[in-house]
Amino acid sequence: MDKELCFMSLGSNLGDREDNLKKAVNLLKDCGRVFDIKCSSLYETEPVGYDDQGYFYNICISFTTDLEPMELLDITQSIEKELRRVKTIRNGPRTIDLDILLFGDRKVRTQRLIIPHERMYERAFVLIPLSELKEVDVKIPEDKSVRKIGKFTF
Ligand code: AMP
Repeated sequence: MDKELCFMSLGSNLGDREDNLKKAVNLLKDCGRVFDIKCSSLYETEPVGYDDQGYFYNICISFTTDLEPMELLDITQSIEKELRRVKTIRNGPRTIDLDILLFGDRKVRTQRLIIPHERMYERAFVLIPLSELKEVDVKIPEDKSVRKIGKFTF
């Protein structure tokens, strides 16, 4: 089966934020169905949507996979569970958030999964790290700060 090239955004603003991102990328790698993982730099970003919470650490990653989009979502949601993400407020604090941005050229529109991710082109914290891995049109409407911290390794 042909592999698809995927892009994902990861964020954390609770606990050891960098370690949460590392654990999530390692758990993804451990599923054995994603290959050639590349990571953007690590960014610290101002929260979007709900302001009364700490700044996030964000990265984007790319990888190839022979998974189907829904199988990938199952894996990302089990990683969120394993790292004990507790959903409280919409757009509120979280130990880890994994969003599937792009999955090859596929378009998916189901109740559980929308690809390309609906809000990716409005979010500086997605587009700036993503632009390190892929050519994207970085026209960012929101005025939130996004600060490069340095290299990210997992
Ligand atoms: P959030 O709280 O922003 O992480 O949203 C999580 C919800 O978005 C889950 O219920 C997912 O089923 C849904 N969802 C829809 N499209 C996507 C996507 N491209 N990547 C991750 N979650 C998605």
